[in-house]
Amino acid sequence: EGKIVTIGEILVEIMATTLGHGFLEAQTLIGPFPSGAPAIFIDQVGKLGHPAAIVSAVGDDDFGTVNLERLKQDGVDVSAVAIHPGAATGSAFVRYRPDGGRDFVFNMRDSAAGRIAATPEAGAVLAEAGHLHVMGSGLPVPAVFGMVSASIPAIKARGGTVSFDPNIRVEMLRDPAGKAAFQTVLAATDLFLPSGEELSLFSGEADEGRAIAALLDAGVKEIVLKRGKAGASHFDRDGRTDVPGFIVEEIDPTGAGDSFGATFLVARRLGKSVEDCLRYANAAGARTVTVKGPMEGTSSFAELDAFIAATPVGAA
Ligand code: ADP
Repeated sequence: EGKIVTIGEILVEIMATTLGHGFLEAQTLIGPFPSGAPAIFIDQVGKLGHPAAIVSAVGDDDFGTVNLERLKQDGVDVSAVAIHPGAATGSAFVRYRPDGGRDFVFNMRDSAAGRIAATPEAGAVLAEAGHLHVMGSGLPVPAVFGMVSASIPAIKARGGTVSFDPNIRVEMLRDPAGKAAFQTVLAATDLFLPSGEELSLFSGEADEGRAIAALLDAGVKEIVLKRGKAGASHFDRDGRTDVPGFIVEEIDPTGAGDSFGATFLVARRLGKSVEDCLRYANAAGARTVTVKGPMEGTSSFAELDAFIAATPVGAA
């Protein structure tokens, strides 16, 4: 049935090890950890054994290599990841506040990810995609939006499908061009994967029920709302399914939504019931938050089965 393909940024994350003082004082940092929302997503698809590919760009440096090696090892086709001699792989330095929040110092503006281009290799991967997963974080790069908007009609024409994780920074919606890009993608979305306030931002409705109705009316076929430790809810024309989250100790929330989305999508493509898909996806998200590093907690089906058997769930 064809590969799951995504387009977008690859970077490394480097983490502070002390709470509170941030980067104002010298301290031990840990990393580099492979990262980037599209990279985490596609790594999880590969770990589940589903054919997977990413269209991206890295620098000709160790930060790029560490990502490429990881993705390859987990079964992802990286033939459409360009290696740019003139730009470095981007990085994000993250520190944790005592209240559990995170602050980032991004080193992305002139990175290789900003130079993702419609190369022949990208064209080849997209031409045989069975499913395109769109990540909002990459859409501001014009070449990314160009490939997304050109691929959607082609994929749909051959019976493929599209999912969309808005992964949004609010500034993107304030920009009229950004808003138009998001609306174009939403109109073609089979599976929409919002979390938190993204549901109301994209539907224009504050009330959850009205927001869901508006999105279904706009043509979205399935909506999966991510609810952090409370789990997730699925909505389609036939109704609603809620599955509670697993009870775990959250160590690092980065990547939960990405591994959740990848797992729901793969399970759905394998024909599992909505409830089973949500349970697997909740397990993937929960495993991700229990380890440091965005991509360190991605999971195979065997790991998810073992986790589900051993871990209590929260109240519905
Ligand atoms: P995003 O990362 O996109 O903001 P969430 O924070 O809702 O999305 O996390 C995605 C999924 O990961 C949740 O729906 C849930 O299944 C799982 N998850 C996230 N945080 C926790 C947590 N603290 N405990 C258990 N599961 C979690």
